[in-house]
Amino acid sequence: MKPNKFINALCRLWLGLILYVFSLYCIAEYSVTDNQKPYYSQLNILSYKHFKQGRYSDAYKTALLAKKEAISKGSQKNLARSLSNIASVNFMLGKTEKALKFYLQSYEISKNIDDLIGIESTLNNLSGIYLRLESHQEALKYIKQLPVLNGVDRPNYQKTVAYNALIGLYSVTNQLELANYYSSLSFTLYKTYKDDFSEYYFLNSYASLLSQENKHLLSLKIYKDSELIAIANKFDGLQVTALKNQGQKYFEMGSYDKAEEVVKKAIQMAVVLNMESQLLQLYTLRKNIFLKQERYKESSFLYEQIIELKNIISGESVKQLAEITKIDWLVEETQTKLTQSKKDHKILELQLERQRKNQLIWLICIISFVIFILFFYYRRNTKKEIYRQRSVNKQLKELDRIKDRILKNTSHELRTPLNGIVGLSEVILTNDENKVNKSTLDMVRLIKSSGEQLSLIINDILEMSKSRSGAITIINAEFSLTDLVSDVIKVCEPLATEKNIEIKFSQSDTREIIILDKTRLQQILFNVIGNAVKFTDKGQISVSFYRKNTELALEIKDTGIGIPTNKIDRIMEGFEQVDSSDTRSKQGSGLGLAISRNICIALGGQLNIQSSLGKGTTVTISLPIYNNKKDSENAQH
Ligand code: ADP
Repeated sequence: MKPNKFINALCRLWLGLILYVFSLYCIAEYSVTDNQKPYYSQLNILSYKHFKQGRYSDAYKTALLAKKEAISKGSQKNLARSLSNIASVNFMLGKTEKALKFYLQSYEISKNIDDLIGIESTLNNLSGIYLRLESHQEALKYIKQLPVLNGVDRPNYQKTVAYNALIGLYSVTNQLELANYYSSLSFTLYKTYKDDFSEYYFLNSYASLLSQENKHLLSLKIYKDSELIAIANKFDGLQVTALKNQGQKYFEMGSYDKAEEVVKKAIQMAVVLNMESQLLQLYTLRKNIFLKQERYKESSFLYEQIIELKNIISGESVKQLAEITKIDWLVEETQTKLTQSKKDHKILELQLERQRKNQLIWLICIISFVIFILFFYYRRNTKKEIYRQRSVNKQLKELDRIKDRILKNTSHELRTPLNGIVGLSEVILTNDENKVNKSTLDMVRLIKSSGEQLSLIINDILEMSKSRSGAITIINAEFSLTDLVSDVIKVCEPLATEKNIEIKFSQSDTREIIILDKTRLQQILFNVIGNAVKFTDKGQISVSFYRKNTELALEIKDTGIGIPTNKIDRIMEGFEQVDSSDTRSKQGSGLGLAISRNICIALGGQLNIQSSLGKGTTVTISLPIYNNKKDSENAQH
């Protein structure tokens, strides 16, 4: 093999080895934790695993984490488990008081949530501590609270655990009858359901009871039986205990050689298994055996080893304790900091809230003040404006009245001399036709037609002032609408024919006799049809009417020049023309439509104009009509 190939293979081997070790580590690390379980539960399992392996500070840290998680997730069960784990670590390191405190807390929580496993384990632990402290009464108090001893149906394993604990306790306190009673119970039980673990513990308790009763040989035999169970099940740790118990028994019986034999074996196993506390007990026992065998040299050598082991154990324990105290201190410090920062945060929040409230109040005050000022200012201005408008309206109305009066009076005053002028012109034209020359006659004719024109305008003005003041007298009578419309068309037709325009008349109702003010309707039609002819230069004019119940609708449509939409309303008010220039081509006073609309209103109807510039105008007149004379007379009043 070439050197570089060799190095390559070596590298691959190395990598493979690392991967293999790593995967083994992963399996070992996570095989205990069940990944399906919640995080806090996994932490508790891990803490227990550390505890079993003697890594107390890791166990403590993990249990603290589990506790925090359980609190934040609200799992009471796991909180109890974590407290129990914390207690176990404390107990192992000699902090008995702290251990008791945490076990009791865990017990209370388990009891509150009815967690039987939690209750059983904490009760066992509590009684175990008191047993070590040799407070037998206290230990008994907790054992007696075990659910299985209070009639709660529990699995056989839990029952034997409880019975065995009682056997041990009653043996120690020399209440042998009771110890025997529970040993018979435990015996029947494990015989019926056969569990090696339970059997081992039963045999151990039973053997200690027998030894208490001075039945040493039988006790020794039972310890041996318990060893056989441990061997069969590969309970190595338990085998060490069984051997130690046998050694103790041989020692008590004075068989020192036998005792040395079994204790030696136990020591070898305990060293392999790293069972420090068991080793300590075994060394002590062996030292005592050597003393009895007068092997002083070996005894003193063992004594040194005992001291060393004790130092190691206590040194380790002191180290772990210091580490745990450090963790405790850190946790406490973080908690204090957290509480302080929470307090600070709360204070800050309160201050901010107060500040925000103050700002809000100020803002509301300022806005209210501004709104108040604006409102006050607005009210003052509106009031002023209203007063101003009222007085302007008043003035305008007064002016309008004055204008109407002047117009009326002037028109009235003008009418008499004008009638005189027209009348005299007529007289000259009829009587003196032959006496004056032709040019004078033409001038007289001109005077007459101008007079008539002027008279028409004056009549319009008078009509307008009448209709505005509501002084129109209505005289309803029966007449034929077709005849009336036809007559009006006939009068307007010459001008239309002159402009080559056709006036079409259509009626959709044959009931042409109506009751209405004929003269007024005629006046309206003259105005509207006259306008249509006046303002149409090509196309046609159509006049139509129809009746609907008690309503008459007339429509006059032309294809003339049209009216701009923005002027329609003003035209209806009067004195307004689309073309108001001095050079306008069409004559008129600008009053016809306004008078017609006022008459329509006086008759109880309305007049509407729709027009589009350059396309034509449609005037719609709607009027109420009466079925009989009586109704029409009532309406007149
Ligand atoms: P006038 O005596 O001036 O015709 P009117 O009140 O009848 O008075 O009409 C007012 C103005 O409305 C007219 O001068 C004209 O500008 C406009 N007008 C009325 N009817 C029509 C129409 N059919 N087509 C176009 N313009 C019209």
